[in-house]
Amino acid sequence: MLLKTEGIVIRSKDYGEANKIITLYTKNYGKLSLMARGAKKPKSRLSSISQLFTYGHYLFFRGSPRTMGTLSQGERLDSFRGLRQDLAKTAYAAYVAELVDKLIDEEEQPHSLFSLLLTILKFLDEGKDPEILARLFELKILVMAGYKPEVDRCVVCHSVKGPFAFSVKEGGFLCQRCHHADPQALRPKDNTLKLMRFLYHFDPSRLGEINVKPETKAELRHVMWLFMDHHTPLRLKSRHFLEQMGQFWK
Ligand SMILES: [Zn+2]
Repeated sequence: MLLKTEGIVIRSKDYGEANKIITLYTKNYGKLSLMARGAKKPKSRLSSISQLFTYGHYLFFRGSPRTMGTLSQGERLDSFRGLRQDLAKTAYAAYVAELVDKLIDEEEQPHSLFSLLLTILKFLDEGKDPEILARLFELKILVMAGYKPEVDRCVVCHSVKGPFAFSVKEGGFLCQRCHHADPQALRPKDNTLKLMRFLYHFDPSRLGEINVKPETKAELRHVMWLFMDHHTPLRLKSRHFLEQMGQFWK
């Protein structure tokens, strides 16, 4: 059956002499793997729409549970060229795409992830702060994938009274009275946890200019990555690359 949907290429790899296999995150059908026959040839009509991070309308034959679907044709809506031309942007976009690829099953997902992914890639392309975008995306996709950190109240006693520490093990904010539940809880600055809560509740489409101190961003990244390492099975190549890039810039 020939189906049509909006989609974003989150992975694209060569297959054989002339083909590519793309992973498309779609608005209507969640994540799909599709064979793009001939897409490696520059003259192929599938060539430009099979490039990583491309956003477009896609027509495809859906595979059965045992066979891969086939890309039939597509129309590009945005190539996000900036994401492929700037090394830092490429690295962050690859991270976001890999999070979707590894955290989300190949079954249908709510439309909200599609619009979130599209918004984040668009903002990365426009040059908005990639660290803020990465944290915003992590917080939203972790909730969708079932790894919700508790950022509104103490994860043990549910008190809303701060100041809070952050317990990686317990999975969220920890009040002073509950310190005994996790003596190893992290003690980030108040501003860092406020930023975490703010981003958690924030509607990404409304993101304007946001000014956050580098120390606060670094601290939030540290907390988020420890949380993700503890609670998810993710080991991402793209994150390793971001870590190396960070070392390089110091
Ligand atoms: Zn408590």
